[in-house]
Amino acid sequence: MKKHAVVIAGGGPTGLMLAGELALARVDVAVVERRANQDLASSRAGGLHSRTIEVLDQRGIAERFLSQGKVMQVAGFAMVPLDISDFPTRHNYGLALWQDRIEHILAAWVDELAVPIYPGREVSGFAQDDTGVDVELSDGRSLRATYLVGCDGGRSLIRKKAGIDFPGWDPSVSYLIAEAEMTGEPEWGIRLGEKGVNALGKLEDGKRARVVLIEPHVVQGEEPTLDNLREALSAVYGTDYGVHNVTWLSRFTDMARQAASYRAGRVLLAGDAAHVHAPTGGQGLNIGVQDAVNLGWKLAQVVDGTSPESLLDTYEAERHPIGARVLKTTMAQTALNRGDERTKALRETMSELLKMDEPRKRYAAMMSGLDVRYDLGAGHPLLGRRMPDLDLVTESGPRRVFTLLHAGRPLLLNLGEPGALDIAPWANRVQRIDARYAGAWELPVLGAVAAPAAVLIRPDGHVAWVADGTDHGLRDALTTWFGPPHHG
Ligand SMILES: Cc1cc2nc3c(=O)[nH]c(=O)nc-3n(C[C@H](O)[C@H](O)[C@H](O)COP(=O)(O)OP(=O)(O)OC[C@H]3O[C@@H](n4cnc5c(N)ncnc54)[C@H](O)[C@@H]3O)c2cc1C
Repeated sequence: MKKHAVVIAGGGPTGLMLAGELALARVDVAVVERRANQDLASSRAGGLHSRTIEVLDQRGIAERFLSQGKVMQVAGFAMVPLDISDFPTRHNYGLALWQDRIEHILAAWVDELAVPIYPGREVSGFAQDDTGVDVELSDGRSLRATYLVGCDGGRSLIRKKAGIDFPGWDPSVSYLIAEAEMTGEPEWGIRLGEKGVNALGKLEDGKRARVVLIEPHVVQGEEPTLDNLREALSAVYGTDYGVHNVTWLSRFTDMARQAASYRAGRVLLAGDAAHVHAPTGGQGLNIGVQDAVNLGWKLAQVVDGTSPESLLDTYEAERHPIGARVLKTTMAQTALNRGDERTKALRETMSELLKMDEPRKRYAAMMSGLDVRYDLGAGHPLLGRRMPDLDLVTESGPRRVFTLLHAGRPLLLNLGEPGALDIAPWANRVQRIDARYAGAWELPVLGAVAAPAAVLIRPDGHVAWVADGTDHGLRDALTTWFGPPHHG
């Protein structure tokens, strides 16, 4: 039986990102993917938020995405646009880029990192024991893994077979999404219906339409038909516009559910397998990629024996609250998008609030993922937050902080007296760089914060320790995050 340290079920955006992270940490990882390649049957996500661009930048691959998409302000809340161009980040914007392209770019990166992919087959079952997991494939083969990660989407077989509950809310609305030709000139643009937003957009060829429509009745789990599409068009617009030549047709709902646990023994969940919600706000792919970046280095350290298994508990502790918050704000937006007069009044009130500077900043930081703070205790405002991509001066010349994270290794950045802070017992795991930085330290929403003398940065770019002028707490932080000291 072929062995891998980690098997990932599902090579969508989350599985691919996780595979890349593990490969960078030199873990023997393989991906099992049902599809034969990255082509998607439907277009799904339309882009990336600022923090996702930042995490890709932390690995040196942001440019691959930026060069193929369109940089623009993409954040919004319940159709109120939220501009982040005054935010203190190099990427003070989002990126319009279809999921299909995003997956192809990620797949090419994973290929460069030589991750084996088992395409065109599914994980059909698994059994875990004290030392690993036997993973059954639909082609009759089996793989042996130390850990199995379910990145297999909202209907995750891994989640179900692991017996992990998926509590939440049934759909209140189902949508059809399609690309088709129409006879005559349809009503382009957005039309608010009682239950939410309908939209007809012209495709690049100027002829075909992309359609998003609310169905007259909630349907779940069934394949949509051309008749469903005609019926929904007629219900919203009073005509089916002679819809024909449908090149794709798909259905999604506003079901909101989250895995009760992100781990059952040697089985973990990430991305849609761990949380599903309506696409409103464009969060799903983004938080899936960020789940992967939180989990990757931790799993790598557990697999190679650097850290105890308990490090994996911090994955759920940190990422479950993020998923829960996305479910809540997505449900709020779905409710605010209803077309009745009272909801309209509520939306206008919300819109007035969001035009005020402080609420705008808070919501924009939330929707673009820049406000994430993991609870690492009290202390300097940087603790648990994303490390800003400062322009440093080092012995080897100018360096960006994100460049120093490209290899996915932890970093102790010493901005005080050169040579201070001895971390010899962790030297094989943690980079230590002396640097100077003369500019202001600014965080989204919070604004300027006191310049620290040193920061310990995790591979996911979150700050694990901030110097208070001494090395107080540094050894504990190093041990918590990067394992016990090695002497000799
Ligand atoms: C209409 C629509 C619009 C959206 N817009 C946005 C947006 O603008 N922004 C955003 O961030 N998100 C958006 N999303 C959500 C986004 O598409 C998902 O959150 C994202 O695809 C999740 O990635 P994933 O890798 O976790 O799961 P998936 O993309 O579902 O990938 C799961 C993968 O696992 C494979 N698989 C499944 N079962 C098995 C198995 N048993 N064995 C092996 N392989 C398996 C599948 O083939 C698939 O490739 C949208 C979704 C929809 C439907």
